[in-house]
Amino acid sequence: MAVPFRRVSKMKKRMRRSHQALTVSGMTTCQNCGQLTFAHRVCQNCGFYKGKQVVVPKTEKVEE
Ligand SMILES: [Zn+2]
Repeated sequence: MAVPFRRVSKMKKRMRRSHQALTVSGMTTCQNCGQLTFAHRVCQNCGFYKGKQVVVPKTEKVEE
């Protein structure tokens, strides 16, 4: 039921909205470097997959 917004305290409003955060679907944080990466893919930042170095990342190739 609709409630006039002045009848809802700031705390109650913030408590309700604490559950409204959006999540990025299909993406996880890398276990090695903490970068946001696609799930079930090699990390583009460090080249790790399942805790192992699988590929050399592009940024390191340029430097060498
Ligand atoms: Zn990584």
